[in-house]
Amino acid sequence: VRMLNVSEIFGPTMQGEGTNIGKLCYFVRLSGCDSNCLWCDTNSIKTVFTMPVSKIVLRLKQQAAESHIKHIVITGGNPLLQPNTRKLCQKLLSNHFTVEIETQGTIYMDLPSDVHLNISPKGPSAGNVDTMKTGAHFMKLIESHSHDLKFVLDGGEEDLAFMQGILEIEQHLCSKDNLKRIIIQPVNGMHEVNVTIYRKIIEQAIALNLKENYKSRVRTLTQLHKIAGVE
Ligand code: SF4
Repeated sequence: VRMLNVSEIFGPTMQGEGTNIGKLCYFVRLSGCDSNCLWCDTNSIKTVFTMPVSKIVLRLKQQAAESHIKHIVITGGNPLLQPNTRKLCQKLLSNHFTVEIETQGTIYMDLPSDVHLNISPKGPSAGNVDTMKTGAHFMKLIESHSHDLKFVLDGGEEDLAFMQGILEIEQHLCSKDNLKRIIIQPVNGMHEVNVTIYRKIIEQAIALNLKENYKSRVRTLTQLHKIAGVE
């Protein structure tokens, strides 16, 4: 039996960030993370239960039958830490769900091509002074699967330099045009952030959008679920 360590399964709710912001969905939060970000809002969720992949899919199918919501966001922790995440994606897709994954990108996984992959590398403002592990796993992930890159910035120079460093790696590797969108969000959602910082982030996005390779791919967003106070 293929098992997964789960922190929580919840919904219906809405996706609060990224390209699918506002989309109604269910969340599957898998437990365990290989990073330790300062502003992590999920490290406090300690509940861990082990559940067969088939049971997770069955539960979501039953809920979707009532709500007609067939979009699933698999998040963490880092969902790619658990090999059976791939099986979960496959089973959900074969049951006509659409699937989105959130990861910081430190672990490679051969995901089904229909999975919408959000990679959110965590930089200096998250306390990752070793500048994310832009190692072999990250490179292989961005080379092999189409993805959005999502950056959470504090408006400072260090985070900006980190983002530019990642984009340079991306540009160097992604001849296959795998990079779909670049999403820039302020830390903590706009409600807690100084408006000056948010303006600075918009300026950074505009400057980035002027570059030939990133034209029309850059979006600035906030974290809507934090403002709305929903999970
Ligand atoms: S990568 Fe995400 S889940 Fe892991 S510590 Fe950082 S913010 Fe938390």
